[in-house]
Amino acid sequence: MRKVLLVTGGGRGIGAATCILAAKKGWAVAVNYTANAKAADEVVAQIKKAGGEAMSVHADVSNETQVLAMFEKVRSSMGPLQGLVNNAGVIDVSARLDEMSMARWRRMFDINVLGSLLCAREAILQMSTRHGGKGGSIVNLSSAAARLGAAGQYLDYAAAKGAIDSFTLGLSKEVAAEGIRVNAVRPGLIDTDIHASGGLPNRVKDLEHLVPAKRGGTAMEVAQAIVWLLSDEASYTTMSLVDVSGGR
Ligand code: NAP
Repeated sequence: MRKVLLVTGGGRGIGAATCILAAKKGWAVAVNYTANAKAADEVVAQIKKAGGEAMSVHADVSNETQVLAMFEKVRSSMGPLQGLVNNAGVIDVSARLDEMSMARWRRMFDINVLGSLLCAREAILQMSTRHGGKGGSIVNLSSAAARLGAAGQYLDYAAAKGAIDSFTLGLSKEVAAEGIRVNAVRPGLIDTDIHASGGLPNRVKDLEHLVPAKRGGTAMEVAQAIVWLLSDEASYTTMSLVDVSGGR
């Protein structure tokens, strides 16, 4: 039976690789974007060209009104969700804590933490057997930064990802008896646009010597773990924080 998946920030990077791989495995995929409609439409076109089912859907995950409208649009177009990937995330420029503003922290936590809580809440209302759903799987994007701390770069981002780890552990227990598995993937240094968005386009090359595997990872290498966690092959896996970091 066809299953419906929503990937936040699905137009680029790890989210885009996840959408493309999940569609290959038979998921009908809703590709969320906030600013880059073109990138999301390209992912949708690529999936459709390969014979899959996909739609793009706009929402800033930190905006409750937009998120509610997104979940309703996906449900009415594709049916109730069985999968959610809380992938949308942002960093900021490198700074020390004593140089950071409240406005920066609010954006960091609004998008990376509250956006994930909000989307998970709406997914649970569709998936949970408590609410008449058929169960499902949620994968949250954390980061190796949650373990490493990102001192001198963006410890606000690391703290937000630490919150995602705690959120994953708690929510997995809360909904385990309602047919929902909740896991997180913690990528290490992955070659995507995110580093340029923080002003460090060469960050992966510059830091890859610190990785035991001596290279950065690809978005598809992270997507493989995410799509496995979504699948029935991971049917007894919940409350796991899966490191995809080349040993870092
Ligand atoms: P990316 O290439 O910069 O892509 C970020 C995606 O998030 C874009 O599709 C963007 O949408 C979307 N997004 C940003 N703010 C949003 C908002 N408010 N609402 C909805 N969507 C929003 O990032 P990435 O490297 O693939 O990262 C994906 C996830 O993995 C993030 O959670 C990140 O923290 C995590 N991660 C990445 C790395 C890494 O090294 N790359 C390492 C650890 C963890 P638009 O296309 O519309 O702008």
